[in-house]
Amino acid sequence: MTKEELWRAVLSEIELQVSRPNFLTWLKNSRLLDAQDGTALIALPNNFTKEWVELKYHKLILGSIRNYDSTTRKIEYVVEGVFMEKANRSKAAKLVARRVSEGQLALPEIKVDPETNLNPRYTFDSFVVGSFNELAHSATSAVVDVVGTKYNPLFIYGGTGLGKTHLIQAAGNEIKKNYKDKVKVKYVTSEKFTNDVVWAVKNNRFEDIKRTYRGVDVLIIDDIQFIGGKEKTEEEFFHTFNALHENNKQIIISSDRPPKAIPTLEARLRSRFEGGMIADITFPDYETRVAITKTKLQDREVALDEKIIDLIARKAQKNIREIEGVLNKLLFYQATYNRTLDMAFAEKVIAEIAEKAAVKVSPSQIIRVVANFFEISPNDLVGRQRNKEFVEPRQIAMFLFRDLLAMSYPDIANKVGKRDHTTAIYAYKKINDDVTKNPNLNQKILMIKEMVSSLG
Ligand code: ADP
Ligand code: MG
Repeated sequence: MTKEELWRAVLSEIELQVSRPNFLTWLKNSRLLDAQDGTALIALPNNFTKEWVELKYHKLILGSIRNYDSTTRKIEYVVEGVFMEKANRSKAAKLVARRVSEGQLALPEIKVDPETNLNPRYTFDSFVVGSFNELAHSATSAVVDVVGTKYNPLFIYGGTGLGKTHLIQAAGNEIKKNYKDKVKVKYVTSEKFTNDVVWAVKNNRFEDIKRTYRGVDVLIIDDIQFIGGKEKTEEEFFHTFNALHENNKQIIISSDRPPKAIPTLEARLRSRFEGGMIADITFPDYETRVAITKTKLQDREVALDEKIIDLIARKAQKNIREIEGVLNKLLFYQATYNRTLDMAFAEKVIAEIAEKAAVKVSPSQIIRVVANFFEISPNDLVGRQRNKEFVEPRQIAMFLFRDLLAMSYPDIANKVGKRDHTTAIYAYKKINDDVTKNPNLNQKILMIKEMVSSLG
């Protein structure tokens, strides 16, 4: 029996035991590269498929191979593709296995301070300043120096991925560091604030809201644009704002646009915002993108060729999150395959990212992939049942509608059980936040995205 025959036999056996979509997604494009000395080497088209197959189908595969070749005791899974020469396959498999088991590829766990909600990773030290964010940075630094009396409120606005959250959280962390327990800092997203208000209304617990939000010295509110149009929330925020402002407590606000461009914002709130300091963040130019790339490399204690840094800075123009994305991917491959990054390789990876970004998928394709991934039915995924096993998959689907297709919140909510648009906002923000704190969730999202993009 040749390797090919053996693998065909194994696959046709497995095909009978798993669902058709799962077979097509995970196993159809696999190959048996080698079967010697008791070890079978199986190649899969990408890392995500590899990890999934290893996790879900290992037993099945091993059992099935042993039906034909009882000397097989072990299976190694490798990724097949542009990233590896044939000769290195088995070596790479061992390396990956070792690194994974040594936890080298695991993302560091990030601990958010439960009292302030601040994430310690956002600091001024790790924040690169260029002409695009100079004003916002200097205004924020001034606020840190003289809390409450200089620019109040401080209103920072700019497009997504440009550093608003980083900057306002850095302010919070710095204040905390300088004043220790003498100053009470609190960071919230405007959704969190909204949820708290909604909860207080429902449970008649306004005192709790007052205590939580009016008892602080520095209140940082992220993405205030989402507050617009919610009467009760705006009302409560208005009173909170006034109570703090009158007592010279510092308020720091971020938004994706200036106050006058938030259409549903009440006039009295708008004029309060305009009464302080407004600073924008625009787009980093090429030189700044180089500086940012270099800083990120330093943070990770790795070096890259100048030419590759130049390539990243030229290609990743959209925002800083994109720079980080490209960098993470390059370093991931470098670590996984223990390969020096040459120019050709970097170009390949970057081209691949660009190609994936261009892939157009439909909402129903996303629904199918997510349902399939979590092994629930598409109907349950978009249904109205609140069973625990449906909730996270549903939130992830909503997140992906926004992230991959830029769908509006009402459209998203409509697709998923005709819910209220605030549910979609909540789901998006929750997943978007959680991925930075929960490596497990992050991995799931990456796997799903990989599957979605492989459809295109
Ligand atoms: P926004 O809130 O504007 O959408 P974020 O603050 O979340 O953007 O920034 C996106 C990513 O880019 C974060 O990982 C952040 O640490 C990083 N980042 C943003 N601005 C800078 C900067 N000036 N220097 C270094 N890293 C930055
Ligand atoms: Mg943000």
